[in-house]
Amino acid sequence: CGIVGYVGVAEAGTDVVLEGLRRLEYRGYDSAGIAVVAQGAGGTGIDTRKKAGKLANLVEALDADPLPAAATAIGHTRWATHGGPTDANAHPHVGQGGRLALIHNGIVENFAPLREELLRAGVAFTSETDTEVVAHLLARAHDEDPTAGLAAAMRAVCARLEGAFTLLAVHADEPGTIVGARRNSPLVVGLGEGANYLGSDVAAFIAHTREALELGQDQIVTITADEVVVTGFDGTPSEGRRFHVDWDAAA
Ligand code: GLU
Repeated sequence: CGIVGYVGVAEAGTDVVLEGLRRLEYRGYDSAGIAVVAQGAGGTGIDTRKKAGKLANLVEALDADPLPAAATAIGHTRWATHGGPTDANAHPHVGQGGRLALIHNGIVENFAPLREELLRAGVAFTSETDTEVVAHLLARAHDEDPTAGLAAAMRAVCARLEGAFTLLAVHADEPGTIVGARRNSPLVVGLGEGANYLGSDVAAFIAHTREALELGQDQIVTITADEVVVTGFDGTPSEGRRFHVDWDAAA
């Protein structure tokens, strides 16, 4: 339903993403969650907190068990389509191996055969969502060829998906990067100073920047703190549509 992403030089991930999720509350939602890529005792890893119900429930969970400071974070408010509104079905979903987290707006129409394929390959599911299928596919695609990078894995996976989706993914191997993709569902990039943002709409990052880039149909975007790279699902380099947000949404 609502999507926020942040990569910056500042380790402000949880605060920036929570703020963006608050501004997306008007869309309605039944659960919320955050994933960060952060340095832990065992090296760089993925941490998530997710809760059914209002953002206040997520904030309570974060207060009880704070996420580590992180320069890369993604957040989601969910409107359940596949699987009820439970903590387990809330996004982010973590891919096999625990090194990748994914959030999703929309519906993956062909999730059932993809889920069957993954079950046959021995993948264990922890939710009833269509989204978790994509998390495992992406983790496996990345593991098959880690040097190709997360954006290449995203391109390979998107080519297999049907339906409507905005996807954001982070991987512990690429700590300063978020990869996004969209088909039949919106995704906007916010261009900041020493930070870049992603949102299902500009409200996600309006508190930080009014310079934005709208992605076209069937496009993939990779953001770091100082770079934004757009391609088609086929890898062809592309450019989004630049625009300035001049409506007064900062209130
Ligand atoms: N289909 C996904 C789910 O049910 C995403 C729903 C949404 O757009 O929030 O988890």
